[in-house]
Amino acid sequence: MPTILSSFILCKCPQCRQGNMFKPRGPIPFWDFGIMHDRCAVCDLNFKPEPGFYFGASILSYGYGVFVMGLTWFIMWYLHLDETWLLLTTITLVLVLFSPYNFKMSRAGWLAFTVAYKPNLKKKI
Ligand SMILES: [Zn+2]
Repeated sequence: MPTILSSFILCKCPQCRQGNMFKPRGPIPFWDFGIMHDRCAVCDLNFKPEPGFYFGASILSYGYGVFVMGLTWFIMWYLHLDETWLLLTTITLVLVLFSPYNFKMSRAGWLAFTVAYKPNLKKKI
């Protein structure tokens, strides 16, 4: 049974935790990472309930970014790689590389705030 944590991490629909929220990426990295499906393929949940709905996801994005920066800093500090230029360069690089995933996880998390989990819900055809 998928958990709420796994639905965030894998960017699954928060209502059924099975359908993908985002379309598969194309061949060019960082180009089309944020294209969402309009509705869930499994339970038919509307992923775009209203214009500007995902504005609040920026709050989660900020939190994820701070977490990634803190984790990167901690790992570098633990490995005694704590020169300022190296810290700033590495943290910036990790944040840029993490940004597509941060974007997706923020949206999945924001949608999960408003939608309850319904494990037995199937799409009505
Ligand atoms: Zn669904």
